[in-house]
Amino acid sequence: MKKITVLGVTGSIGTQTIDVVKNHSDEFEIVAMSAGRNIQLLEEIMQSMNVKHICVQNKEDKEYLEGKYPDCQFYDGQDGLIAIATLTEVDIVLNAIVGFAGLLPTMEAIKAHKDIALANKETLVVAGHLIIPLVKEYGVALLPVDSEHSAIFQSMNGEHHGDIAKIILTASGGSFRDKSRDELKDVTVEQALKHPNWSMGAKITIDSATLFNKGLEVMEAKWLFDVDYDDIDVLIHPESIIHSMVEYQDTSVIAQLGTPDMRLPIQYALTYPYRQPLIGGKRLSLADIGSLHFYRPDFKRYHALELAYEAGRMGGSMPCVLNGANEQANALFLERKIHFLDIERLVEEAMRAHQFIAYPTLEQLLEIDQWARHFVLKRVGED
Ligand code: NDP
Ligand code: MG
Repeated sequence: MKKITVLGVTGSIGTQTIDVVKNHSDEFEIVAMSAGRNIQLLEEIMQSMNVKHICVQNKEDKEYLEGKYPDCQFYDGQDGLIAIATLTEVDIVLNAIVGFAGLLPTMEAIKAHKDIALANKETLVVAGHLIIPLVKEYGVALLPVDSEHSAIFQSMNGEHHGDIAKIILTASGGSFRDKSRDELKDVTVEQALKHPNWSMGAKITIDSATLFNKGLEVMEAKWLFDVDYDDIDVLIHPESIIHSMVEYQDTSVIAQLGTPDMRLPIQYALTYPYRQPLIGGKRLSLADIGSLHFYRPDFKRYHALELAYEAGRMGGSMPCVLNGANEQANALFLERKIHFLDIERLVEEAMRAHQFIAYPTLEQLLEIDQWARHFVLKRVGED
C-alpha cells in the first residue's frame, strides 16, 4: 500500500487524483490532504473517503472543522502543509497546489525522504537550483505530473542521458491560438477561460492562453531532465494528442501519445515504474482523428514564451521574478482589473526593474517573489 499526501486536493489535479486513488484503492491510500479555502468541497471529499490528517489555509476554517470532525487531526497555513507533507507514514507527496505556495512543503517533504509527484511546476521554475540538489542529496524520486513532462519522462525510459539531442515540448496554443496579436487587445476573462482541449484550474488556463504556461514548462523541463535551453523546442500541436517528444542523437524521435486526460500522468507518477489500467480512460484512435498538425510558435506573437526563455537562460533570480509577476498579473486579469496583454507587459517590466542575483537563497527567493508581486500591484495602482 502506497501512502500519499495530496496537497491541493480541492483543485483540478487534486480531484482527479482522488479519482485515480479510488479506482485503485487496493494500491493507494490518502493519509493526508490539504485544501485552500474551498471547505465545502473539502467536506464532500472527507465524506467520500477516510483521511485522518487535513490542512486548510485559514485558522477559522480549521477551528470550524475541528468542532465538526473530532476524529480527524487538522492543521493550517504553511506550517500545516509542511506537517502533513512530512508525516512519518507517508511515502509520496503529490503536490497539486497552484503557485509559489507549493515551494516550502516540497522542500521539506524531500528533506523528510518523501518521493514527490509534482504538478506544482512553479516550484521548479523558481527554485530548481535548490530543489534538484536536494532531490539528489536525499535520494528521493521526483516524478512529473505535468502531462508534457510525464510524456518526456516516459519517452526516456531505458535511454541514456548522453544520447538525448533535444526535447520537443508540445503546446495546444491555448484559447487564443487562432487570434492575431491585434485581436488579443480586448479579449475577455470568459474567452480566456475556455481552453480548447483541457479542463484545468483558472490560473493555468490563463497561463495557457498567454503561453506563460509553456514558458514555465520549458524551465520545468530544464530542471527535471538536465538539458540546455538551446535543446528545448516548443511546437504548437492543436490536437494535444502527442504530449511531448524526445529526439536522440541518432535522429530517432520517441513520443508519448494519448487522449487528453490528466488522470494518466497523475496515475503514472503514482504507479511508476509499473502501469495500471486507467479506469474510464478513453483509448486513442488515430484512425478516427485522421490527421495531426504542428507549427512553430512565433516569438513575436507569443512574447510571453520569449520572456520565459530569456528568464530561464539568465537563471538565478530571474525565473522567480517572472513567476511572481505572472502570478500577480494573472490574478489581476482574473479580477478584471487589467487587460490580457497587460499580463506579459507587467511581467516584462518587473524583469527589467529587477536587480539580478546569480544564486539566490531560499530567503532571497521569498523576498524576490514578494517584490515582484508588489511591483506589479504598484504599476497598476493597487498597492
Ligand atoms: P486549481 O486552482 O484547480 O487548484 C489549486 C489547489 O491548490 C486547490 O486545492 C487550492 O485550494 C489550493 N491552493 C491554492 N492556493 C493555495 C495556497 N496559497 N495555499 C494552500 N493551498 C492553495 O489548480 P490546478 O489543479 O489546475 O493546478 C495545480 C498545479 O498543477 C499548478 O501548479 C498547475 O500549473 C499544475 N498543473 C495543472 C494541470 C491541470 O490539468 N489542472 C496540468 C498540469 C499542471 P482551494 O481551491 O480549496 O482554495
Ligand atoms: Mg502541461
